[in-house]
Amino acid sequence: MPVTTACITGGEIHRQWQAGSIRGEFLGPQNTPFGPSGDLFLANSEDAQYYLLARCGIGLAKTSPSGINHRANIYALKDLGVQCVLAWGSGAAITHSVAVGDIVILDDVIDQTNLRDITFFENSPLGFLRQFPVFCPGLRRIVGEVLHDIRLIYHGAATAAITAGPRLETPAEVRALATMGAEIVTHAFAPEMFLAKELQMCYSALCYVMNYAEAGSRQPPLGGALFESMETQNGADRIAGVVESIGRIVANVASVAQETTSTCMCRQIQNQHIEQYGLPEDWRQWITQGEV
Ligand SMILES: [Zn+2]
Repeated sequence: MPVTTACITGGEIHRQWQAGSIRGEFLGPQNTPFGPSGDLFLANSEDAQYYLLARCGIGLAKTSPSGINHRANIYALKDLGVQCVLAWGSGAAITHSVAVGDIVILDDVIDQTNLRDITFFENSPLGFLRQFPVFCPGLRRIVGEVLHDIRLIYHGAATAAITAGPRLETPAEVRALATMGAEIVTHAFAPEMFLAKELQMCYSALCYVMNYAEAGSRQPPLGGALFESMETQNGADRIAGVVESIGRIVANVASVAQETTSTCMCRQIQNQHIEQYGLPEDWRQWITQGEV
């Protein structure tokens, strides 16, 4: 059976691979027209196979958020036949209703990044696409059911502000993001979520809460030092438990996704452009089309 589900995450893949908690094949970086992707793994579970892609390395090799080659990562997954992308990243809670160690299935974002390659189609109009729904509703539903079955505490919807990083936000920025409607703030997911949509892939973002965003108050949950939550045993245990569960979450999502007929519109989102511009069937040619 073809492998059609992938998870994009950070250096925790390398750590879990080295610890033996992820089994499968190390594929390494994939060559693409945009340069090499992050390290890829083909993971095996009892019920399904799935790809894991590390956005960045670990230790001193870890890339800054704006230095990640998102286009290479999404291109590589599409080239391998991936249809469903589950993205995984940490964030800081802005709202009081989200606690450290919780998982949030995002349903909207405020993209505050401006130093990243946001489209495959710099020389053509194919990136002119609607962003509602922002994430694949079908994949979000599957992810919610999997998290429910595993009995992890999760929130079915939230808006994330995505900031450029690598630095964290100033108190005034956090207060501004709160007034804009952000419930969580992260450096992950943009622009890979928009790039996946350009190539007609289903994409869902899971953000686990690592700490509380600092709004200038000394009172938790809107105060505190950097990753203070990890200094408490409860916070550290909850975060470790959530991070350890990523392989199981992706395996279960992959298993359900391969048995489920897609009802979303993600895989038809370029239909209007295909018709309007007479695009060829091979999506790779869409990218080179504007360069001809
Ligand atoms: Zn979809």
